[in-house]
Amino acid sequence: MVASQSFVRHSPLDGSVLASVEFTSPENAPEILQVARQAFASWSQTTIESRGRILRKAAALLEERAETLAEIVRHETGKTISACLGEISGAVEMGYLVASHGRHPSGYTLPSAIPHRHIRVERIPVGVALLIVTYNAPIPNYAWKTFPALMAGNTAILKPSPTTPHSAQKFVEILWEAGIPQDALQLVLGDGDIASALIDGGADLVSFTGSYSTGQKVVQASALTLAKTVIELGGSNPLIVCADANLEKAAETAVDSAFSNAGQRCSSASRIVVEDSVYETFRDLFVEKASLLTWGANSDANVSTLIDSQSVVAFEEYLGAAEKAGATVHRLGISGGQPPPEACLAQPALVEGLDVESEIATAEFFGPATRFFSFSTDDEAVSLANDSEYGLTAAVWSSDIARAERMVSRIEAGVISINGPTHGAEINMPFGGVKHSGNGSRDAGVYAIDQYSDVHVVSTFFGV
Ligand code: NAD
Repeated sequence: MVASQSFVRHSPLDGSVLASVEFTSPENAPEILQVARQAFASWSQTTIESRGRILRKAAALLEERAETLAEIVRHETGKTISACLGEISGAVEMGYLVASHGRHPSGYTLPSAIPHRHIRVERIPVGVALLIVTYNAPIPNYAWKTFPALMAGNTAILKPSPTTPHSAQKFVEILWEAGIPQDALQLVLGDGDIASALIDGGADLVSFTGSYSTGQKVVQASALTLAKTVIELGGSNPLIVCADANLEKAAETAVDSAFSNAGQRCSSASRIVVEDSVYETFRDLFVEKASLLTWGANSDANVSTLIDSQSVVAFEEYLGAAEKAGATVHRLGISGGQPPPEACLAQPALVEGLDVESEIATAEFFGPATRFFSFSTDDEAVSLANDSEYGLTAAVWSSDIARAERMVSRIEAGVISINGPTHGAEINMPFGGVKHSGNGSRDAGVYAIDQYSDVHVVSTFFGV
């Protein structure tokens, strides 16, 4: 292997140095792909039931090591410990869900027009799966892709965000310990250059979670090699509040949807669309509930740090641009403790008065802010909700379920809730978006294994 470059990650919590790691040189891509291809020959021939047994063990080990893992994730991402533990338990559940496919019905048979012909359609692995993920929920991000990719019989190369190398190392070590061969699951650390080299080098399947702009590059590069793609991108998710909604509950949920995980969710409620007759009442309720938020590096703060100080700069630049465009920016919450030396904290904000036609009204900013808009008719609410290039998640709050369902049927988003948050996908729900939020693929849920499989059709002529 070509010598790699070492990289030091500082914790967003306190600026402390987390152990230095080696980034993989892009020149090593052909060798990494070769190792994965060789391992595919044997891994793909194991039974799905035996792969399920290994993944069940991996899920059990993740559960057993949850506290240690949560500490690693906390130091790497600045999240609260309860958020880290909650995410790990989601990853564990994903492991068990996927492992259970070892005993599920798989494939089907087809009737034939020809006598004595038996046709069966079977699921087969795709080959070498390159799994490129972001940092916002590291362990679930690894689990959502790695478990189904391996279960379907592919070999996998996991490429985490450069900001979360340690959680990825721990996750992969646990899977190796459970029995996944090291060549069947490789870890590469680094940024876009190693990911690009592995795509260009001919990974058979590329599964990507990240921003729209990088997603476009991934799809373009994959088009040249004709790799299968699974693409999960950003969002600018609307939460609609009708005058007949339970406003107290809607405000509580809107605060959580906008600010939990410091707004670093693809499914954050970054646009709150409120019926004009209750606009002020609802905004005041929202501000009241948000004023209880503690933002800080303390483990009990409910708005954690951003991933790094550059993200805080980008977030503040977004708010500055909103003000320049004529918006009013209200800062919310009570600061908890000293800001960390790395200055990775961002104070929650509410933005009002943006021109709905402006790009800044619908851009994704990935931080603890949300924008308020008002509507007077349901048509206007739906049009505001859809007036974004993204289409990931949405929520509608109304006590008139028929009214909410009518709106939902016209909202352009992949995951929508009525009287619920914009986030909160469960592991058995297919997750993904439309428009610039994805390319029609879905992670997790009932499609999980299908995304990482191909099919082949076998005909047996038994009259010969
Ligand atoms: P990003 O696009 O900058 O990076 C994502 C991953 O792609 C990283 O591992 C990065 O190293 C890698 N990468 C960078 N350049 C690449 C290239 N040219 N080719 C291949 N890979 C490359 O995204 P980010 O800032 O890490 O994450 C935030 C984004 O992720 C937001 O837009 C958010 O909405 C989105 N996201 C989406 C989902 C979803 O399921 N839809 C979930 C979480 C986050």
